[in-house]
Amino acid sequence: MLHEKDMLMLPTPPIPQELLKAFNDHQHMVILGHKNPDGDCLNSQLALGRVLENRGKNIYLLSPGPFKRYEIQQYASNFLKDFPEGLPKKDTLVIVLDCSTLDRITPFEEKIKDFTTAVIDHHAAGKHFGDIQYIHSRAFSVTFMIQHIIAEMGDELTQEIAEYLLFGLATDTGFFRHIPGKRGEVFHAAAELLEAGASPRRVHELMYGNRPFESRKLLGLLLHRAEPYYEGKLIVTWEERKEHLQFGEEMRDSETLYGQLLGIKGCEMVLYLREDGDNSCTVGLRSNNYVDVGLLASSYGGGGHRRAAGFTYKGEREEIQTTLIQTCKELFL
Ligand code: 5GP
Ligand code: MN
Repeated sequence: MLHEKDMLMLPTPPIPQELLKAFNDHQHMVILGHKNPDGDCLNSQLALGRVLENRGKNIYLLSPGPFKRYEIQQYASNFLKDFPEGLPKKDTLVIVLDCSTLDRITPFEEKIKDFTTAVIDHHAAGKHFGDIQYIHSRAFSVTFMIQHIIAEMGDELTQEIAEYLLFGLATDTGFFRHIPGKRGEVFHAAAELLEAGASPRRVHELMYGNRPFESRKLLGLLLHRAEPYYEGKLIVTWEERKEHLQFGEEMRDSETLYGQLLGIKGCEMVLYLREDGDNSCTVGLRSNNYVDVGLLASSYGGGGHRRAAGFTYKGEREEIQTTLIQTCKELFL
């Protein structure tokens, strides 16, 4: 997800010709996304997969999962969990989407070394890998990049593909809320998708609608628990293991939670810590204007964007929570 300072008006980098050549030169394509996938990642895979399939290629969509986020459960059946066996080394291209570091494609990081690998990504930070790289850190979403590739190749933008692309674009822009001025190209892209038949109403319903009643109870609990630090510039909330067991990951609506907390007057940054398993937790970070949470998350082995990032912590939640609050002191005092 991107915010203002990530989106300065600079030209879009050209699509590497070797990427387009690799699409032509291989018959089999494994299209892989990052673990704990989101709407941008999966819809980039689905859209690119369909385009290449329409060109007569053999497509294998692969995801490490899990498909816990509510809005992506609908896509799970389209994805393989295991790397397909018996693919010819020379005639197979692995395409990795929305992923800036190898550890985010666990357990496939060794397997992909057998093949030519292309990476298409929009993260600024990270240790990029792959034989062919198309990295555009100011792209609103990876689907935005895929849309660009489709236009360049002159392939048909069907209604199905357009709706995949709109879902990804809406995911990473918070349904266009995080876009600053002078980036009108996002609406040119969206207009093209709508003309091809994509429906914002339907995409919004797929993303935010049809949630279980219990998910609002969890949201209420997490809002109620939130604590302000440094005159409210930092807001912290957390989910305990017993709640994780009671509600399940499917009940989380993290984007709505972040939106509510970031909307508090004076708030610059939100921390949302989740006790996932025994002695391990997931930390989500968001900011409004100036704190680079991507940088902060990478110092704990994670990553992301300037305004949205995360990492996994092996240890007690209270421990990392205290450390992070202490670390933020110099940012806010
Ligand atoms: P979310 O909080 O929605 O899971 O993630 C927000 C952003 O942070 C996404 O761009 C995602 O790629 C990144 N992110 C979240 N967790 C991790 C992580 O463990 N490692 C890395 N490298 N990036 C992460
Ligand atoms: Mn993305």
